[in-house]
Amino acid sequence: MIEFQHVSKIYKGGKVAVEDIHLSFEKGEFICFIGTSGSGKTTSMRMINRMTEPTKGKILIDGQDIQKMNPVELRRKIGYVIQSIGLMPHMTIRENITLVPKLLKVSQDERNAIAERMIDLVELPREMLDRYPHELSGGQQQRIGVVRALAADQDIILMDEPFGALDPITRDSLQDLVKDLQERLGKTIVFVTHDMDEALKLSSRIAIMSEGKVIQFDTPSNILKHPANTFVEELIGEDRLLQAKPDTTPVSEVMLKTAVTITPEKSLQEAIKLMREKRVDTLLVTDNQHILKGYIDIESITQHRGNSSSVGDILKTDVFFVKETALLRNTLRRILTRGLKYVPVVDDKQ
Ligand code: ADP
Ligand code: MG
Repeated sequence: MIEFQHVSKIYKGGKVAVEDIHLSFEKGEFICFIGTSGSGKTTSMRMINRMTEPTKGKILIDGQDIQKMNPVELRRKIGYVIQSIGLMPHMTIRENITLVPKLLKVSQDERNAIAERMIDLVELPREMLDRYPHELSGGQQQRIGVVRALAADQDIILMDEPFGALDPITRDSLQDLVKDLQERLGKTIVFVTHDMDEALKLSSRIAIMSEGKVIQFDTPSNILKHPANTFVEELIGEDRLLQAKPDTTPVSEVMLKTAVTITPEKSLQEAIKLMREKRVDTLLVTDNQHILKGYIDIESITQHRGNSSSVGDILKTDVFFVKETALLRNTLRRILTRGLKYVPVVDDKQ
């Protein structure tokens, strides 16, 4: 439905803001452009409705070159929400909702019908249409801000960090709202964000940008499972990677950073001392690279007390060779991070 064909944008002065983007989005997709500041997200989005003209390449919508489309037609097809969803304070809710339809010369009657449809969508009373923004709660205003973007019934909606300035809780509920409306109304949304949680939550596919280039374009789950390079991995963050990886790694290879651990050459006396200090009855045994080698517990130490064994001689390795699921690995990490004792790992080989 939206097709970028080798699109580049070089601003006056020579800044290459976007370099050779070649992608296509299907109807009804929720696409996020994500990347650090200055990576070319806004420029990429603005080229879709010709607020910015590409220097090279072309963009097609429904197979039509947008350069050859009538600007009015383009505006009917594509809505745009800039970096805030604030309402106009001197206009009623009705006027706010129907601002774009009015610009598109929709009749008064039809605009009233639109305003009612929109306010119904967010389950607010129709009486509110004749109030001013300050007569609504902040949350109600924000919901109106979201449906206003849908009022002109354009097929495509461009949203440039619309929730960037909001607190996390409001943001979360507006994300749910926009996703729900997008699915119910079958809109195609192209959304810019620098927040990976937001992108993962909303997107059907994510375009990861760095220095003007799209370095990966894929579904959230594929990006999590197969990040294209270390830049993408960093953007995703270690915790999310651990959650997402389909894990066939044995537990023995889990990297430990914060658990109560001991290295194999230590004496049993040292192990007991550490257990008392940390108030745990199990220690994880790791090598110097913090890779899990096994564990020792009070029971095994008691059996060997008196010999001159070291930790490495008595460690138990029955947590080995267990295929983890992502969930298990995470649980494991959580348990370890809290410095708690033995990790109940199920052997799924049986
Ligand atoms: P993002 O939205 O990812 O932060 P932008 O698309 O806004 O990035 O900008 C990409 C690069 O292009 C940045 O280096 C920015 O400074 C530059 N840029 C953006 N708009 C203009 C402009 N109108 N003129 C010159 N350079 C611009
Ligand atoms: Mg931007």
